[in-house]
Amino acid sequence: MTFSLFSLEGRTALITGSSRGLGRSIARGLAQAGASVIVNGVNVERCVETAQAFSDEGFHARPLAFDVTDEAAVVEAFERLDRDGIAVDILVNNAGIQLRKPIVELSVLEWQSVIDTNLTSAFLVGREAAKRMLPRGYGKVINIGSLMSGLGRATVAPYTAAKGGIKLLTQAMAAEWAEKGLQANAIGPGYMLTDMNQALIDNPQFDTWVKGRTPSRRWGRPEELVGAAVFLASGASDYVNGQIIYVDGGMSAVI
Ligand code: NDP
Repeated sequence: MTFSLFSLEGRTALITGSSRGLGRSIARGLAQAGASVIVNGVNVERCVETAQAFSDEGFHARPLAFDVTDEAAVVEAFERLDRDGIAVDILVNNAGIQLRKPIVELSVLEWQSVIDTNLTSAFLVGREAAKRMLPRGYGKVINIGSLMSGLGRATVAPYTAAKGGIKLLTQAMAAEWAEKGLQANAIGPGYMLTDMNQALIDNPQFDTWVKGRTPSRRWGRPEELVGAAVFLASGASDYVNGQIIYVDGGMSAVI
């Protein structure tokens, strides 16, 4: 049984980009802690399959595919939840993409697609969620940042700008919503074993660099984000606001 301080029984969580990768692990962890979870992604089939896999494990899950960069689709998704009588208590803004290119080779369209998917989406989905959370005086918003919320690295400029923006958007959300009973915080994962990083994982030089640069001397496992996510989604974090918790094997703590 979950220690009650961290229990999410009776809560509903929407996790964007939870059809696979880190979002999927976070969704499963929130479900294990008692939450009903709404599985999101662009690909409808993957959302349905993931929600079904969670249901087969005995968790409460439903798919809700929509593109987090499409304002009309986001608004429509929340209206659909309203019609079904479902209130989102916990929002995890996790959907994201990566694009590796030197700045001088980037087109504006490429820049914008990364900013839209990784930063504007958190504003957009956060806005629709908060419109409904604020009158209820309850809500937990968890934005997924990155090591790049505080550090630069060559070839990932739009991603770094977006993730730095996530850190400060989280602070702006806390500034506006804390007194209304909401908490907005962020998680900054380090180098994790997911599809997004497959090319890096398969590159022996990069793999050696990650292991050398990370005090834990290994990549992170997606399920290792669950502890921070459950903490930030639960009553245990009711007086924590505007913070970013790095789950990175210590990488951001050392040079
Ligand atoms: P993955 O590529 O493994 O999964 C991405 C997820 O986001 C998928 O579910 C995908 O859905 C969804 N998604 C992508 N674009 C959209 C969109 N426009 N609308 C809705 N859903 C979308 O990524 P990760 O799990 O690795 O990353 C998840 C988050 O964690 C990202 O924000 C990333 O920046 C961050 N992060 C990742 C790190 C890592 O090491 N992997 C490190 C630090 C941060 P679909 O299946 O339909 O494509």
